[in-house]
Amino acid sequence: MITVSEATDIIQANTLTLPITQIPLTEVNSTVLREPIYADRDFPPFHRVMMDGIAIQFDSFQISTDTFVIEGVQLAGAPPQTLQNTNGCLEVMTGAILPFNTDTIIRYEDLQIFEREGKRFARILAAPKSKMQSVHRQGSDRRASDLLIPAGTLLSPAEIAVVATVGKATVQVTQFPRVAIISTGDELVEVNDRPLPHQIRQSNSYMLQAALQEQGIKAQRFHLRDDKVILRTELKNLLGQYDVLLLSGGVSKGKADFVPEILAELGVQNLFHEVAQRPGKPFWFGRVPNGPVVFALPGNPVSTFVCYYRYVQPWLRLNLGILADLLPKAVLREEVVFHPDLTYFLPVKVALETSGMLTAQPLTTGGSGDFASLLQADGFLELPQQQSKFSAGEIYSFYGFRK
Ligand code: AMP
Ligand code: MG
Repeated sequence: MITVSEATDIIQANTLTLPITQIPLTEVNSTVLREPIYADRDFPPFHRVMMDGIAIQFDSFQISTDTFVIEGVQLAGAPPQTLQNTNGCLEVMTGAILPFNTDTIIRYEDLQIFEREGKRFARILAAPKSKMQSVHRQGSDRRASDLLIPAGTLLSPAEIAVVATVGKATVQVTQFPRVAIISTGDELVEVNDRPLPHQIRQSNSYMLQAALQEQGIKAQRFHLRDDKVILRTELKNLLGQYDVLLLSGGVSKGKADFVPEILAELGVQNLFHEVAQRPGKPFWFGRVPNGPVVFALPGNPVSTFVCYYRYVQPWLRLNLGILADLLPKAVLREEVVFHPDLTYFLPVKVALETSGMLTAQPLTTGGSGDFASLLQADGFLELPQQQSKFSAGEIYSFYGFRK
């Protein structure tokens, strides 16, 4: 039996080489960029008006007048107009290009607009402080051909805005791995079936599918009976079609726990079986050399859940090239005693204190089959194997499973 940290190292050492794929901009959220994004133009690409108001020559205000005759209107999206008279002005709208012969914007809030003898005038009530007031200068944010987003960046709405503005309708990103979720167990029936007294509806694969969806991965679900022939045929098939097999159930010491044996038969190398942890001790992990990676998680729903968030999700994010996952820590609120020589994943409810500290309240559960207890939990604390008493105020790694 290996430790949690040994298991983590083995898993993290078995990454996939995921290809690059080119996809539409509308689908890139939560993917990892595989090409650098450069500015195609200056940011902003022209002297951009920042306020609705008028454009004047600063020097005219300084030298001769505070009242300007309005010559016309410069709307956003219209080509630049030219101011004709030094004592004139043009009304300008936010987003418009700064008209020729002007250099200063006065917003409407600092103006009095009036009419006299059929002409409209603007009188300035608050003196402009300097030239280029309320002008977003061309190239002041970024210059054409500047590197805006390096390859390897996880794309989120902020990056997507920048990718759109440089005119890229399709983007090269890391292709998501093909993931098969496989539940096993003769006692399990489908969600729309009515279970007999000795049966239950299967829930693990729905949980895993939803968790993968949060990473942007669309996984397929399969269910296999505890039958060696079926397992052999179907797993062989799936190993040929997927990059990752995420199994649940059939890895313990039961009379119908055939998964490790069949996987080994099919050429999946056993990289570990059993981790010194609770829940999730029977966890099996392996790989076809240079081929698909297989996580065979224990079937108890809480074990499946904990193993997914503790091992599978960080591994997926590592594969996608997301390196900057910070692992939060939380302060234990109550003493916990746990004697077995195992790492203990303690379900907790967390609170963000006014100090900014995360505190964790232990929850009592009915064990690894009690998945209704997850409804109260926000995640779990990793309580180290070497210790058996965990005091209030001590700080431990927190794995959250809520957004
Ligand atoms: P196993 O790991 O196959 O020995 O299963 C351990 C326990 O988890 C058993 O009580 C199973 O009925 C339950 N279990 C296994 N797979 C699932 C599943 N997909 N959904 C819900 N419960 C499951
Ligand atoms: Mg089973």
